[in-house]
Amino acid sequence: MHRLYHNKAWNDRGDFGHLSRANHVKICREMGDKLPLIKWPCDLRVTRPLIEGAFKVNLPSRKKWGEMGPPQHDEEDVVCYTDGSRHDGSTGAAAIINYGGEQNLVTIPLGASATVFQAEVLAICWAAYAMSSLPMGRSIYIYSDSRSALQALQTWQYMTHLVGECFQALNILAGKHSVELIWIPAHEGFQGNEQADQLAKEAAGTVVYGPEPIIPVSMSSVRLAIKSVAIKKHKMLWGRYGGARQTKELIDIPSMRVSNFLITLSRSNIRLFTQVITGHSTLNGHLHRIGRADSNICPYCNNGRETSLHFLGRCDYFLTKRLDVLEGQTFGAEGVRVLEPAKLMLYIISSNRFKEDKH
Ligand SMILES: [Zn+2]
Repeated sequence: MHRLYHNKAWNDRGDFGHLSRANHVKICREMGDKLPLIKWPCDLRVTRPLIEGAFKVNLPSRKKWGEMGPPQHDEEDVVCYTDGSRHDGSTGAAAIINYGGEQNLVTIPLGASATVFQAEVLAICWAAYAMSSLPMGRSIYIYSDSRSALQALQTWQYMTHLVGECFQALNILAGKHSVELIWIPAHEGFQGNEQADQLAKEAAGTVVYGPEPIIPVSMSSVRLAIKSVAIKKHKMLWGRYGGARQTKELIDIPSMRVSNFLITLSRSNIRLFTQVITGHSTLNGHLHRIGRADSNICPYCNNGRETSLHFLGRCDYFLTKRLDVLEGQTFGAEGVRVLEPAKLMLYIISSNRFKEDKH
């Protein structure tokens, strides 16, 4: 919807003809109503500049900085420090320009919707604008502690309008001066960087009057907002759902930890993992319930009903395996729930309990 909306192709006609039943249109519309962010101007734009940057980007390592010590400059150099900061849910950017014994300060409050990355890039961009009136032929050094911002300016394609604008501002500046961007480690006591950091924090703490967003929102903010709404809804529906008692007992859902692990597995292993966790597996407890086994007793230890919890946490037959892989003798449901899903999977597979199953 976000993409269609910004390409002016979103017609929002969920109640039109056969589309009245099209649920996804309604879902998208609801999402749009809940998240005004989706309809705000977005900063996504892939562009490949045809020219190479006329400015230099220098990314020394942290170790190198340890050897070099604080930056040393001649009196006639222009030395600039930039920084972006996020504090208490709002963002700010700042730049300090030192030239001819004078100090020029730029502070930009950016409100709630801007990211730190955007603030870092904007600080460099505004610093470039502020230096555009300098007399020709200066040596300009811009220090930033954002490696990602400097890398974004260095690549052959930029992904956002903001980075593109900054690239252009620097290129124009580099037409008149020699311009070098240098990465400097944050919180290492480098005076200029500390001062810019302080100033950016003040900018972030400044209340912005006027409608948000101050600058077009980044794609990552849009993704994050959609994800958080989806997770909230998932949690609510899952919590309200009365079934799946065993699954709720054995695993936390929704959990990024579990889903990130599951998508790395093969189809048959996802199926196996799901079967064991939900209890719909070839363990006797389940087979007996659906009339496919004569008894629900564990055929390995003959000691109790063969449920998933019995297999994962209690069965004596797999005790050594459990000690080996899961590093524990017995587990209750609570214990199973906090186990690493990868270890759980390793235990399920290496126990060979399901090797007869046709996957
Ligand atoms: Zn057993």
